[in-house]
Amino acid sequence: MIIDGKKEAALLRSEIREEISLLKEKHNKAPGLSVILIGDFVPSQIYVKNKERNSKEVGINSEVIKYSKDVTEKEVLNKIEELNKKESVSGILVQLPLPRQISKEKIINAIHPKKDVDGFHPVNVGNLSSGYKTIVPCTPLGCLLLIKKIEKNLSGKHAVIIGRSNLNGKPMAQLLLKENCTVTVVHSKTKDLKAECLKADILIAAVGVANLVKGDWVKKDSIIIDVGINKVGEKLVGDVDFEAMKDKVKAITPVPGGVGPMTIACLLKNTLECFKAR
Ligand code: NAP
Repeated sequence: MIIDGKKEAALLRSEIREEISLLKEKHNKAPGLSVILIGDFVPSQIYVKNKERNSKEVGINSEVIKYSKDVTEKEVLNKIEELNKKESVSGILVQLPLPRQISKEKIINAIHPKKDVDGFHPVNVGNLSSGYKTIVPCTPLGCLLLIKKIEKNLSGKHAVIIGRSNLNGKPMAQLLLKENCTVTVVHSKTKDLKAECLKADILIAAVGVANLVKGDWVKKDSIIIDVGINKVGEKLVGDVDFEAMKDKVKAITPVPGGVGPMTIACLLKNTLECFKAR
């Protein structure tokens, strides 16, 4: 089965739209998302545009605050402080990557944990690793929702995650532990990647290396979630060799059209959750 991320994301967005419309009717208030965009990096501009369009479609009041690439760290921190205090702002997102003069760590730490729609603040990271209810980074959350569409009960499944970034691999591992999976996290220093991948009932690849996972690295009837986005010539491909395994596995996400659309839908979900929590 090829998992249709576009369809699942559209379903999630329509649920969010419906809930926001009910909340508006009842309380005459809607969630607000403030996105800070620094510089002129084209992929960031495209991501932010998509986030803004999707937010508006579901009824989130979205604003984009733009700065030139030479803005000072102080100026951005002051803006975050202002947004932290603003009642109408439910969520704040600073689009990464940042220019060299701005510390990613300082920016992430400055966002109020209850408005941290990316789930990157150490308080939210700590809550997640303690197994508490919290804001979860959008991509791993999207992956989990897709996996659960295929398999409701993940208890006892062996999940192998390739990649240990704060953005993807680590939060994914926490989410799957909470689902009672046995979790293996592998990375660039892992000795025998193929042998580890072959143990997976659920394989999540979040690496950034085109077609790293070969057809004979996966078990029959496993679930494959491909987070990677890699450009090969004019084509976008994932971290797994899709064609070589699509007929062997139980379910697999394509690239594009798999995890990507779910990431943005989960950002909207997180914004709504932040609004409701406040
Ligand atoms: P990252 O921070 O660069 O982390 C990559 C991870 O992969 C690291 O843990 C690294 O190991 C590991 N790795 C690198 N080469 C490896 C190899 N040959 N064998 C095994 N492990 C290897 O990347 P990221 O931010 O997590 O992003 C990963 C991919 O997901 C990228 O393609 C990115 O564009 C994509 N992405 C997609 C979405 C989406 O919505 N679909 C969202 C975010 C990111 P070490 O830790 O040892 O260096």
